[in-house]
Amino acid sequence: PRSGFCKSNSVFYSKRNPTPLPPNQYLDVTTFISSKAHHGKVAFIDAATGRHVTFSEHWLAVDSVASCLSDMGIRKGHVILLLSPNSILFPIVCFAVMSLGAVITTTNPLNTHREIAMQIADSKPVLVFTVSKLVQKIVGFELPIVLLDDPETIPREVKILTSLQEMIKREPNGSRVRDRVNQDDTATLLYSSGTTGTSKGVISSHGNYIAMIETFAARFKTEDTFICTVPMFHIYGLAAFIMALHALGSTIVILSRFNMHGLLSAVSTYKATCLPIVPPVVVAMVNDADKIKSKYDLSSLRSILCGGSPLSKEVIEGFLNKYPTVDILQGYALTESTGTGASTNTAEESRKYGSVGILTANSEAKIVDPETGKALSVNRMGELWLRSPSIMKGYFSNLEATTTTLDSEGWLRTGDLCYIDEDGFLFIVDRLKELIKYKGFQVPPAELEALLLSHPEISDAAVIPFPDKEVGQYPMAYVVRKPGSDDLSEIAVMDFVAKQVAPYKRIRRVAFVASIPKTPSGKILRKDLIKLATSKL
Ligand code: AMP
Repeated sequence: PRSGFCKSNSVFYSKRNPTPLPPNQYLDVTTFISSKAHHGKVAFIDAATGRHVTFSEHWLAVDSVASCLSDMGIRKGHVILLLSPNSILFPIVCFAVMSLGAVITTTNPLNTHREIAMQIADSKPVLVFTVSKLVQKIVGFELPIVLLDDPETIPREVKILTSLQEMIKREPNGSRVRDRVNQDDTATLLYSSGTTGTSKGVISSHGNYIAMIETFAARFKTEDTFICTVPMFHIYGLAAFIMALHALGSTIVILSRFNMHGLLSAVSTYKATCLPIVPPVVVAMVNDADKIKSKYDLSSLRSILCGGSPLSKEVIEGFLNKYPTVDILQGYALTESTGTGASTNTAEESRKYGSVGILTANSEAKIVDPETGKALSVNRMGELWLRSPSIMKGYFSNLEATTTTLDSEGWLRTGDLCYIDEDGFLFIVDRLKELIKYKGFQVPPAELEALLLSHPEISDAAVIPFPDKEVGQYPMAYVVRKPGSDDLSEIAVMDFVAKQVAPYKRIRRVAFVASIPKTPSGKILRKDLIKLATSKL
């Protein structure tokens, strides 16, 4: 096996030891993980109530729920929507569904009815798992609903099929119909906008997850207590609980929703050792370090894992200065690569400030000149292309987006401007793709532009990322008013969008222009607009 840069084909091979993958083609991710049962140990704790689930209880519950789903007629290929905040029950639903070869699609609980409707229309689920306070968001789709919590507060007109608790109470039925699941079958459809356009269903197979698990298993060897506040509907949170259940036998303390006090209290109550978070949380931990350290006992904390969006060198240095006993490890990943990409695995590796680390084991990379398409060598900047057993199979029902994102040799265009140095460390320099990331959440500009164009007084619009120290980036709109609509104000534009989108997608800055700069073929010249917006900073 090679490692490092290979001149003859301009490919970077991961410097991590290659990890063998299970050769058995008939393997689903649930069977693969549950074979590593850590029996009596606690798998998940609900931070708010202290309620916990042991590994054995978790897998028993998965079996019962799978039996019920099978009796309901759920079969391989059926899509199930999971609309829920983080909870100790979230993993039970995922593994039960996947054990049958059915497919999990998740959505952000903050999404509006309109946004969820778009995902439902695209992914065509046959059943929804949700919680009572989110039920209103799926009214009108005529989908059977299973509640994760108590149905008491549900309006009478909403029909509930059953509750997860009822399903868990069922004795697992050994004779259930269980289709044979192949590693190549689809496990999840997580939504991501990729390099361009609106959100699309990312097809990740059982094999993609199994490869991700095997390559990460080498990274996490010790038993840790994690706090999971990163969203489980996103590959970051999903990968976190999958990993904890597999090789580690670690305990995950789950927060249903992020808030700083809840997070830090959970660290001290549960003596957490490892904290997966996103950059805005690191920024807040640095800014309020003195207050935080006087109020919370963080002495158990050994490392934080940070990923999802860029973390600046100043913030890393600020963090190490304020929390000298805590390592700050980074991870770079995409939904499209099932949570793999690059990472720093040790304190020593993390000293290479500005780098997101070494390519995940079994991964190959190319750095491609966006102008010429030529693969570049060490320390040269270009678009990162990735290839590994964890790269998605494509976008659901979207051949065009699939062929522009994945080439015939299996390379994934990440849309990130990067370079790799002589030691094999990856540096993310900028984002070439349209995507905006607000606190690590995806905001696809194309979605907001379509909304703006539906406004009767707007003739054209472009949405770009505006840099912000605390949230990373927020959406800014350049808007062309229709003739005679000079009274249309910035606030009116922002309100128009805010009413229709999840809070993290809100447009927080507007500028009116006479026209939107475009290429002759009509593509928005976003880089020009970004330059214009930031030139005054
Ligand atoms: P998602 O599919 O939501 O995980 O978004 C993937 C994108 O997030 C990547 O293509 C990057 O643009 C960005 N990203 C993820 N992790 C990092 C990181 N550690 N540093 C910089 N950007 C990141």
